[in-house]
Amino acid sequence: MQYQLHDIVQLKKDHPCKKSSFWEITRMGVDIKLKCLGCGTSVMLERIDFDKRLKKIIQKADQTQ
Ligand SMILES: [Zn+2]
Repeated sequence: MQYQLHDIVQLKKDHPCKKSSFWEITRMGVDIKLKCLGCGTSVMLERIDFDKRLKKIIQKADQTQ
């Protein structure tokens, strides 16, 4: 799956806060940084781990920006 910075994604497991199952990609490098849209908590995942957990891309970031 192709994803990029600021995309909104859904992971196979929800964040324990249960407020939202969507995450925003806030940093992409060796690690992927994700922000929970429910509670605002940020987590870092290794890219390989993120690829395994990624379920669906909900919204693509605006590519004109
Ligand atoms: Zn959360």
